[in-house]
Amino acid sequence: MGGLKRRKMKKLKKKLICKNCETTETLENVFYSAVTRILTLQIPRMRKKDGLHIYPLYCLNCDYITEWAADPFNVSGNAIEGIEYFKTFKINNKYKKFFYYTKNNLLNRGYTKTEYI
Ligand SMILES: [Zn+2]
Repeated sequence: MGGLKRRKMKKLKKKLICKNCETTETLENVFYSAVTRILTLQIPRMRKKDGLHIYPLYCLNCDYITEWAADPFNVSGNAIEGIEYFKTFKINNKYKKFFYYTKNNLLNRGYTKTEYI
């Protein structure tokens, strides 16, 4: 009892950073908070050379997309606290569409720290 919960909580302490404006949120906020300033999607693109899954994060503070991938062992040598960052660019129509639902659904999250964990 409780052990799994604690492990999951620990994982969610990881942070995502907008590489344009340095806004930072914990993964817990990104996935569960209604007032998060960073959103991400579980829709990765795959890097061809090694199959790495790269995810987009959308910063609501500056409207930029930053691409990121989990790199817990810093294999890339570029990871910041277990996350490697790639391109940063102003959100375009493709990503606006991707994030539309998530963004508009934020207020329905009914955030509590333990509700989904
Ligand atoms: Zn930003």
